[in-house]
Amino acid sequence: MNASTTLTPAEPVAGCRDADVLRERGQHEVFCGLTGIVWLHRKIQDAFFLVVGSRTCAHLIQSAAGVMIFAEPRFATAVMEERDLAGLADANEELDRVVAQVLERRPEVKMLFLVGSCPSEVIKLDLKKAAQRLSANYAPDVRILNYTGSGIETTFTEGEDQCLASLVDCMPATEPEAEADLLVVGTLADVVEDQFQRLFDEMGIENVAFLPPRRSGELPSVGPNTRFLLAQPFLTETARKLSDRGANRLAAPFPLGAEGTTGWLKAAADAFGVEPMRFRAATAAPEARAKAATAKRRGALEGKSIFFFPDSQLEVPLARFLSREMGMVPGEVGTPYLHREHLDPDLALLPDTVRLSEGQHVDRQLERCRADRPDMVVCGLGLANPLEADGMTTKWSIELVFTPIQGYEQAGDLADLFVRPFDRRTRLEV
Ligand code: SF4
Repeated sequence: MNASTTLTPAEPVAGCRDADVLRERGQHEVFCGLTGIVWLHRKIQDAFFLVVGSRTCAHLIQSAAGVMIFAEPRFATAVMEERDLAGLADANEELDRVVAQVLERRPEVKMLFLVGSCPSEVIKLDLKKAAQRLSANYAPDVRILNYTGSGIETTFTEGEDQCLASLVDCMPATEPEAEADLLVVGTLADVVEDQFQRLFDEMGIENVAFLPPRRSGELPSVGPNTRFLLAQPFLTETARKLSDRGANRLAAPFPLGAEGTTGWLKAAADAFGVEPMRFRAATAAPEARAKAATAKRRGALEGKSIFFFPDSQLEVPLARFLSREMGMVPGEVGTPYLHREHLDPDLALLPDTVRLSEGQHVDRQLERCRADRPDMVVCGLGLANPLEADGMTTKWSIELVFTPIQGYEQAGDLADLFVRPFDRRTRLEV
């Protein structure tokens, strides 16, 4: 299949659907799930994230979020001292005291997450019990939940999965007679969420809700009449819990680039019986804008090879966008976890020459990367400098999570994120 061909619904495709996967288990070079607090605290505007961790955890959050804080942050770390590590009773008392202090100072907070870390897991501090105990004290004004962001349990984007999964437990049940509703699952920038909402309105799909909501009191209902669309590919546990509540997942490519966004919206349109003419009327103009925006940047990327280290779980849909819409040639596409079912529509659109890998063994992967000598490497911050020193052009995968990249209007910005490192290298060489 030509990398730049456009998929039509009748086209039979297999792509990487049935491809063998190289399974790697070894040293990781990935942030832990605490990182998700950086975007989650900005999304749920009345939530507070209290990491129960060490000074290392506090430094990670501060440095990841440092440059992005525009308002008083709604996150903090309850630092566990040696005294806490010695006795659970002390740690629980201290936790109650810190929560009381936070809620007294921040009366606008309506939901507080106790976020577990490596230290809290190592001493087996039961944050679920702590959340139940504290909820009894602060209900109904403040809801206290818990999830883990520890590096033992989670990588990078899996923190969001754990957080949203904890929210699913609190979602009310839909009425049995209620009309079908659409739930969009995964944190999106507000501007992107508004664009999608307008498109669903134009298609005539009513009862659309987003998880997470902007305010904790607006948690949507869920039940057998709920159809949900994943907006992010790293939400395995959240999707499982929604399915357990009776909701049905709509299979779709992830909404990156013009093709991915159209496929994603089409899945909703088909499930809600939207007429093809109405669907085209709603999507034709923004899709054309997205195609024009990416076409302008295609020349800078076409024919260039790209190698993905496993980091954010966005790797498969990104590789699909870059190969199909930008003409890039993905070599290895590594991802921390490959959920075949959720990624099936994207895998089907990947060239069958791609080497898929799951998990990480950083030394072996570095060897393969150096042997491939790709034009661009997408990787975490820790690997970027040594690879740049080797003469390779890198892209930090964390930027792809912090930047709004979903939807038609962001397709040009998404392409730009890959054009810029080549520009920078050209300027440096000049
Ligand atoms: Fe490090 Fe674990 Fe804290 Fe993450 S949770 S910053 S991996 S100690």
